[in-house]
Amino acid sequence: MVRHSSRIELSQSSLTNNINFIRKKVGDGVRISSVVKANAYGHGIGPFVRMAEKSGVNHFATASAFEAEEVLDAKSAKADVMVMGILYDEDIDWAIENGIEFFVFNYERLEIVLHKAKALGKQAHLHIEVETGANRTGMQASDFPKTLTFLKKNAEFIEFTGLCTHFGGAESFANKFKIDSQHARYKEFLKQCKKKNVLPKIKHIACSAAALAYPDTVYDMVRIGVAQYGFWPSPDIYYAHLQEIGATSSNGALKRLFTWKTDIMDLRHVKEGEFIGYGTSYQATRDMEVAVLPLGYSNGYPRGQSNRGHVLIKGKKAPVVGLINMNLFMVDVSHIKGVEVGEEVVLVGRQKSNTINISSFTQVTQLMNNEMLSRLPAAIPRTIVK
Ligand SMILES: *Cc1c(COP(=O)(O)O)cnc(C)c1O
Repeated sequence: MVRHSSRIELSQSSLTNNINFIRKKVGDGVRISSVVKANAYGHGIGPFVRMAEKSGVNHFATASAFEAEEVLDAKSAKADVMVMGILYDEDIDWAIENGIEFFVFNYERLEIVLHKAKALGKQAHLHIEVETGANRTGMQASDFPKTLTFLKKNAEFIEFTGLCTHFGGAESFANKFKIDSQHARYKEFLKQCKKKNVLPKIKHIACSAAALAYPDTVYDMVRIGVAQYGFWPSPDIYYAHLQEIGATSSNGALKRLFTWKTDIMDLRHVKEGEFIGYGTSYQATRDMEVAVLPLGYSNGYPRGQSNRGHVLIKGKKAPVVGLINMNLFMVDVSHIKGVEVGEEVVLVGRQKSNTINISSFTQVTQLMNNEMLSRLPAAIPRTIVK
């Protein structure tokens, strides 16, 4: 196989650090479901699932059936998979056959699942997602009583694996009233389960932010996305943690896993007054040494970084000069001594004593961390490092 124009390295020890921190926070008896939607937030679903199992995770959550299929290929027999979002009717058989858990948020779906489970002679594992105030997916309260009756009657073919909901905005303390109201409504659903004596095997409502900042939302399982990748869900959650531990720094409680690298494709001397790349967006104000890098916006490097971003070479910042092209961009290396073709370039992550954070892209390009990460092309090879 020929070499790709950039590569992503994922740190196993950082992931173990993050999982251990989250486990300590939520308590030993609570299962951590690792949310690996969007190609594991850009980290690469296959390698990430293998890493997460090494770090002690044995439950994975995806937004879709096609992502669950990728988890299935990567995971060991011990780990479980749960689809939280889109699963088409035509793929329900596949889910049941492979023991894949999935969210159900309307009553009609239950009848379809029952029919298919009976035909296959195999039990389906369902999480009933209830509507508590996010108003995206979630079963309406009016459909819940008949759902419980249905689950009681058809327990042989349908396991009531979970009762769950999702908070709309737990990362911001300004939304606290909404989170509290969602949690209160969730408890109403639970009460009905108890009253009818139709109980879910597990209860789960917390995402990263809730698991870290609202201990009362931690039930039997937590669904952890962003935090396991080493990102605090928001400044609110970060500062709440500092307050809780009475410190001015989190001391590496969460560590980024991710380093994105390329190498120098070519070097050139550019004379004062010349333009670099397409158009006239950058004119050399002095004689310059310029390095050409073999990737561009089609390879996940945002065009918004044109004339504004920087990369690391020999541990020093090298500013982007000119526009980010489809497959190339240029950086100024005039101030860095002894730069050579083939030399390592860090696009995101640490090199020597300098670091480029994903959040620096956010400032320049208006992309959120999650958005920037999830847009990184799946074709970039991911490798696991220590
Ligand atoms: C994405 C998602 C999560 C994880 O959210 P984070 O904030 O990244 O931890 C949990 N539950 C559901 C339903 C989700 O869609």
